[in-house]
Amino acid sequence: MVDLKAWLSQQREKGELRRLRPVIRRRNGRIILAGDDARELIDFSSNDYLALAEHPALIEAAQEALQRFGTGSGASRLMSGDLAVHHELEEAVAGLKGKEAALTFGSGYMANAGIIPALAARHDLIFSDRLNHASIHDGCRLSGARLVRFRHNDLNHLEELLKEKRGTGTALIVVESIYSMDGDRCPLRELVTLKERFGCLLMVDEAHATGVFGAKGGGVIEEDGVSSGVDLAMGTFGKALGSYGAYVAGNRELIDYLVNRARSFIFSTALPPAVAAASLAAVRLIRQEPKLRHELHEKIGYFKGLLRTGGYSADLGSSQIIPILLGESGAALDKAELLRKLGLFVTAVRPPTVPEGTARLRLSITRHHSPTDLSQAVTALLEIMD
Ligand SMILES: *Cc1c(COP(=O)(O)O)cnc(C)c1O
Repeated sequence: MVDLKAWLSQQREKGELRRLRPVIRRRNGRIILAGDDARELIDFSSNDYLALAEHPALIEAAQEALQRFGTGSGASRLMSGDLAVHHELEEAVAGLKGKEAALTFGSGYMANAGIIPALAARHDLIFSDRLNHASIHDGCRLSGARLVRFRHNDLNHLEELLKEKRGTGTALIVVESIYSMDGDRCPLRELVTLKERFGCLLMVDEAHATGVFGAKGGGVIEEDGVSSGVDLAMGTFGKALGSYGAYVAGNRELIDYLVNRARSFIFSTALPPAVAAASLAAVRLIRQEPKLRHELHEKIGYFKGLLRTGGYSADLGSSQIIPILLGESGAALDKAELLRKLGLFVTAVRPPTVPEGTARLRLSITRHHSPTDLSQAVTALLEIMD
């Protein structure tokens, strides 16, 4: 048993102790935190990129489902929790992702922790990008398969490892299309070529891409035209889709198989009807209103342009997620605190969320941000980086 007190104080000293801070109010991209004298900050830490969590279409859909079905779904899908809305949602997701079928999960964490062990077991191989999300990593570990981690976005390294270790069993390659803490993008076309050459399964986590990229909002796999080369198109409803839960899209057999084998699907209560209904409204909305996406990309371009004009020259990623690398956790916390004083809420991301020595500020641009918010943020950032 760890000495809890010693552990906590050690974390505090390193600047790596996490604590919860209730949000008193959140609206229109503004946030008020407990113990902050009701001071309103501009929120640069939300993954609600398209501002759908407050969209009337989602709220109405959820309210209607609440009235009809009540709050909880009552059971797992395989018991009595399987509602028509889950199936409508899965059909809509399959369409969005250009796949035959889809399956929903309680959350992205549960999806990754359930899908990966269903596909790979002892004696199989998983090739995983070093910067993959913790839920992917945990899914790999749960599977008991041999885990081979390749350098972030380095397909030459992946190719070397495939040549050396591929063998003849099942081999699964797992990546994210947009990396959650770096905002950079996986070279999916080249990856699909590689996975075909070596006869592997490819799983792509589009948690930060769905809704934001692709003409229909189908993510980077749509934008890059690689849907058919991606065996498992996974993603979540909790980020750009403004709701909660997750999905994987793939061919019919794969989905039938996962219904029988993904333990986090089988042994867990179905998503509440109101949540599934909100997700369905969001999937429809992102297809019908590409304007939402275009507005976001304009804001991203404007923000990055201002930073560049202001003389900031480090990498700004290729998405709505912008990392400002600082190195030590203490430095990231200090800078986040300075930004708070200047009216911005930006999270300091520290190990173990990111590798040691790469603590950073992580800003996310959302459709809530006005040009004034964005220029205020740039001024503040340039000031604290001096
Ligand atoms: C957020 C995230 C998840 C987890 O999704 P939740 O629905 O929040 O559990 C999985 N993968 C990636 C890449 C994520 O960013």
